[in-house]
Amino acid sequence: MANLKLFHVNKIYDGGVHAVKDFCLDVNDGEFVVFVGPSGCGKSTVLRMIAGLEKISTGDLFIGDRYVNSLPPKERNVSMVFQSYALFPNMSVYDNISYGLRMHGVDKAIIKEKVESVAEMLNLTDHLYKKPSALSGGQRQRVALGRSIVREPDVFLLDEPLSNLDAKLRNRMRSEIMALHDRLGSTFIYVTHDQVEAMTMGDKIVAMRDGEIMQTGSPSQLYRYPENVFVAGFIGTPQMNFWRGTLSLGDGNAKAACPFGELPLTNEQCLRLDMSRVREGMEIIIGLRPEDITVSRRHDSDIEIDVDVSVMEDFCAYAIYHGTSAGLDVVAQDKVDASLKGRTVKLYADVSALHLFDAETEKTILPIYAPSRTVAAVKQGSTLKILGGEIELPKWQSEAVADGEVRVNIPANAIGDGNIPVVCESVTETDEGPVSLLRCKGGALYANGDFSDKTRIGLVLPRLEISGQGRAEAIPNAFVLPFTYEKQGDKHYCVFGNRRAESYYDFNKKMYRLGKKAFKTEYKMHLTVNDVRRAREDECFPTVVGTVEKAFDYTNERYCAVSLGNELLYLRADASVGDEMTLALNLDGVRVSEAGSDIILF
Ligand code: ADP
Repeated sequence: MANLKLFHVNKIYDGGVHAVKDFCLDVNDGEFVVFVGPSGCGKSTVLRMIAGLEKISTGDLFIGDRYVNSLPPKERNVSMVFQSYALFPNMSVYDNISYGLRMHGVDKAIIKEKVESVAEMLNLTDHLYKKPSALSGGQRQRVALGRSIVREPDVFLLDEPLSNLDAKLRNRMRSEIMALHDRLGSTFIYVTHDQVEAMTMGDKIVAMRDGEIMQTGSPSQLYRYPENVFVAGFIGTPQMNFWRGTLSLGDGNAKAACPFGELPLTNEQCLRLDMSRVREGMEIIIGLRPEDITVSRRHDSDIEIDVDVSVMEDFCAYAIYHGTSAGLDVVAQDKVDASLKGRTVKLYADVSALHLFDAETEKTILPIYAPSRTVAAVKQGSTLKILGGEIELPKWQSEAVADGEVRVNIPANAIGDGNIPVVCESVTETDEGPVSLLRCKGGALYANGDFSDKTRIGLVLPRLEISGQGRAEAIPNAFVLPFTYEKQGDKHYCVFGNRRAESYYDFNKKMYRLGKKAFKTEYKMHLTVNDVRRAREDECFPTVVGTVEKAFDYTNERYCAVSLGNELLYLRADASVGDEMTLALNLDGVRVSEAGSDIILF
């Protein structure tokens, strides 16, 4: 068993097709991951790179703890099942299943035991001595699975294994594969273009388009919170309705306007609007799933729309209605009511289920939760009156902004303990853990974590940005540092402007993988506050000297900003402006890209 890590993997085929772009994925041990997307989007290419059948152009692949980019397929301990089964037609089922073991010179008695046990697991015991031509499609696919299972791989790779089967058999094989996964507990990666297969089988879905990951998450996260129009339209049948419209923000009561009327956003949606991505009057794409448009009123948040119903598809248990409203196509799904067909009727659209996307970027403007909220506050000396409570500011923050009305940006990771009274309105489960919506006097906040039993909160000062007359910045969690890479004698250096740090073996190994151009290219490294510290006397990490430009004293915690070349680095340290400081850079987890590109090389 094994986990997998794909780190900024790219595939550029000879001839220039960029088939896989900056593919990043963590697959946990024992997970069932499904790659889904239209034909040609790069799913099989990723699978073949994992199997070792296709070379990785840039990026890193780890299986378990092993870096496997250059390992041949047979040393990766993965096994691939193809759509075409790829069975040997002249061999019996027994010989097909045992082929890999025989090639590895496994003892005959052990082979017999393994083949028989796998045959029993897959219901093939009665067919072991038949040729593949005497088997049905489903049985042949089971033989292909059996051949994989006997090898006891760490990872099973399945490339559209069911697409040659008829619908009924496909359903059965689907549950058989899921049962097999439960039984073996191995890691499965499954490729399909069928979203229903993806939704029903996967623990985690990777939705792809044109070589790029459009969204990764659990089936329910992709269904409930599609990050873009592509995922919204690809996942779910019948497809989500999309209408073009405009967004008006109002004063806390935003509306989405489209030709058949105005759709008022709920309070919760108004809070979720990502203010960094919205503008008054912006063009949007409004999405609503057919099941959220019904023939009778169901929710307080329903609004009426007049629809000319032209077609009804009767599925007995439910019906799908196709019609138009003010020239826009509308698809609804609800109980069967044949009397609606051919008439103009009122249908009910549940606005609490709306999805909204920026028409230009096609990205959601209603993310799972707003990453941060900006609230009004009043500053008096070192006291900040905010959200019905008070917090004490340290000297530098208090001096950076003049007294009076200020605005404070509060990210969801800035909620801690304190004395601001709150009511936790809801807790939403997301793939990244729970997110709480907190209502305070004078505003609402999102907080990472479950706050359902909290009645008071505080704010984590280094994460706040306060602006008014003057500005007190937040300490950035991550930053980018340009550098070049040099070799002198047998030593290697990362050069930052006129400062340089001697690099070390692990980092050099990664740079050398980039080839000769490593010494001729401008790069940037992506660091976090945790990658940099003041150097110790017996420092093991590369060191470099910089000048302290800013100091941030939060009484119980101190940070500073140090200039290296033309850039600033932030770290936790007690220092005074103007000091020279020797920094230690932990380059173990640092990511590197070329200066003009966002593609991460490692
Ligand atoms: P999918 O599995 O999603 O259908 P593929 O991974 O097979 O997609 O293909 C992704 C893209 O790469 C397509 O544009 C395809 O034409 C191209 N491609 C696949 N294999 C090769 C190859 N050997 N040489 C050149 N281009 C290829």
